[in-house]
Amino acid sequence: MSEKTTLLDYRNSRRKRDAEADAKPLEDGYWRRKTLTEMNEREWEALCDRCSKCCVISIEDADTGELYLTDVSCKLFDTKACGCSDYANRKQYVSDCVKLTPKNVPKLDWLPRTCAYRLVSEGKDLFWWHPLVSGDENTVHVAKASVRNMTRPEGRLKMAGLIKRITRWPTPLEKPPAKYRRKAKAPSRPRRKAD
Ligand code: SF4
Ligand code: SF4
Repeated sequence: MSEKTTLLDYRNSRRKRDAEADAKPLEDGYWRRKTLTEMNEREWEALCDRCSKCCVISIEDADTGELYLTDVSCKLFDTKACGCSDYANRKQYVSDCVKLTPKNVPKLDWLPRTCAYRLVSEGKDLFWWHPLVSGDENTVHVAKASVRNMTRPEGRLKMAGLIKRITRWPTPLEKPPAKYRRKAKAPSRPRRKAD
């Protein structure tokens, strides 16, 4: 079995920046009209819902290719903040932290099925809890779609220990709880297949 650790490089991306486009407000529903390649830097960054499921270690069965998710996070992950504790320098400590790009997203089968980049790449819409849909960055946690406060650091765990930590993560809420219903915006335009 092998471990996989990932990450999105939204702050230090080498994507060509377009200052004018980045300064504009995000267009409602842009992810339904643009492919990952067509997005400007700001749109690309905003696409991450900060669920941080990509900072959790998954284990791949070398024989079957099946992926098993653990509740063990990368050593730099801050579970309370639900984010990387040293993003700028993370490569010094976690060399296999993977940078997401429009090109590699369709090939990364270990990205969670709820990952916004994966959804757009597959021509699907975002879920109600995504901050771009709900207008509230907390809804990813309300929906139980994030790993906030539910991981433990890898510490000195070896493969045998990791296997014991294989976990079935909760299925995110399909619909927003009543108090969030008014905030969630309904899709307004037809989807377009991403590249
Ligand atoms: S949306 Fe995707 S890239 Fe962003 S934190 Fe979640 S799994 Fe990671
Ligand atoms: S180094 Fe940071 S961003 Fe990369 S997987 Fe670990 S916690 Fe996540």
